[in-house]
Amino acid sequence: MLSFEHLYSTLPEPLWVATQATPVAQPELIAFNAPLAHELGAKEIPDSTTLAEWFSGNQPIPDAKPGALGYAGHQFGNFVPQLGDGRALLLGEVIDQQGIRRDVQLKGSGRTPFSRGGDGRSPLGPVLREYLVSEFMAAMGIPTTRALAAVTSGERVVRQMAEPGAVFTRVASSHIRVGTFQFAAAQRDETLLKALADHVIERHYPDAANAEDPYLALLEAVVARQAVLIARWMSVGFIHGVMNTDNCSIAGETIDYGPCAFMEQFDPQKVFSSIDEGRRYAFANQPAIAQWNLARFAETLLPLMREEGDALVEQATEIIRRFKPLFDAEQRRLHADKLGLSPESDQAVPLMEGLESQMHQGRMDMTATFDALTQYAASMSDEHREGLLALTTQPNELAAWLDTWQAAQVASQDSQRFAAMRSANPVIIPRNHRVQEVIDAAYDGDFAPFHTLLAVVTQPFDDSVEARRLAAPATDSEQVLRTFCGT
Ligand code: AMP
Ligand code: MG
Repeated sequence: MLSFEHLYSTLPEPLWVATQATPVAQPELIAFNAPLAHELGAKEIPDSTTLAEWFSGNQPIPDAKPGALGYAGHQFGNFVPQLGDGRALLLGEVIDQQGIRRDVQLKGSGRTPFSRGGDGRSPLGPVLREYLVSEFMAAMGIPTTRALAAVTSGERVVRQMAEPGAVFTRVASSHIRVGTFQFAAAQRDETLLKALADHVIERHYPDAANAEDPYLALLEAVVARQAVLIARWMSVGFIHGVMNTDNCSIAGETIDYGPCAFMEQFDPQKVFSSIDEGRRYAFANQPAIAQWNLARFAETLLPLMREEGDALVEQATEIIRRFKPLFDAEQRRLHADKLGLSPESDQAVPLMEGLESQMHQGRMDMTATFDALTQYAASMSDEHREGLLALTTQPNELAAWLDTWQAAQVASQDSQRFAAMRSANPVIIPRNHRVQEVIDAAYDGDFAPFHTLLAVVTQPFDDSVEARRLAAPATDSEQVLRTFCGT
């Protein structure tokens, strides 16, 4: 079905270690992403029994060559020299319809040489969460790994309690992380490090090869992609939850969905993850953390760069400093879209700051606010204005903000601006309580709610009755305040 190639496995041993999947008791297919498979060049899709056998690791997929990848990482600020794929296997790469090389990886497929104390498995809950959230991000045009398949294993995995197990198949531009570079650098083998960096340049940043210093150009390109990525996360209230350097993709995609969640009531200090006790990865900290991760990336590249001594450090530091202006520029563009302003408007930043303060003080739901604002921009009706004012505990203050906004916005008069506004403001996000509801039903053997939610979050601008039902913010009793790591 897929024509695998194996470029990454030509890199030296500790970066890629041949490893077989451990079969599971009774694989059953939950979901298979046929449109993505076609994008990857699949002509025919086999029956669900074969898919379950393949995407659980029970039967080898023709031409796949499974291996675990080595990487290191700063976890909550502490360096761990060896992490690696403890429960994942790279099957190989496929060249997609656009000619882009993409990784296909099983997650939860059994122990590997990097498993340390872990069982190499995944519980069903995190598999369903990653499927829903990553496919929503893709539908929003936010760079992300994709969901190709999910299979239940017929086995139990023990976490806080015994849970059903599952295997997830994801597709990524690559699984190379900042932590992969830290791992290569920690081997103290410059040939290995250079082989990795050259692989990344060839694969993701070919223009860097022609620069005066390709490794400096590589750093610059990665900084630019991360800046765009984090700005896009923030524009939909996404909180990754575990922005360790091993979860930071060199290709600039969202990767390793663990205890991630979307902010509902607007609060810059919001944290969901139960393990983030120091609030290191709070919503508003994400740009600074990404920049910190990029500084760790820069450190690994220094031995390959042309300059030496202070001049070298100065040069690399200057590139890391560029993160902020690049982030700000992308954010300004996104703010303008979200508010229905023209891209040149100098009102985007002050108006957004005003609205954020309204959302925070008035305890407003972020997604519902922008959706209501979009509906109001479309109609300019009293009904929609009232609908928006009903979302805040401080309607007078919001009404004053609305007057200023109304004077600046152009979406109501310009269909192109309105289209940009709509596509920046989803009707629906995968809300925590809905994701939890789907997981609870699946643990009782009912996957219908998962399929329903998946269908609506992957059409996030559709204004259907079903979407409206599943889009509504949680009531006080429905709220999920804590999310747990996928491990
Ligand atoms: P994560 O929190 O999923 O990004 O994982 C952090 C590290 O722990 C990675 O090296 C994973 O491969 C490893 N890991 C997580 N869960 C397991 C597991 N169940 N078995 C083995 N290794 C795991
Ligand atoms: Mg990870």
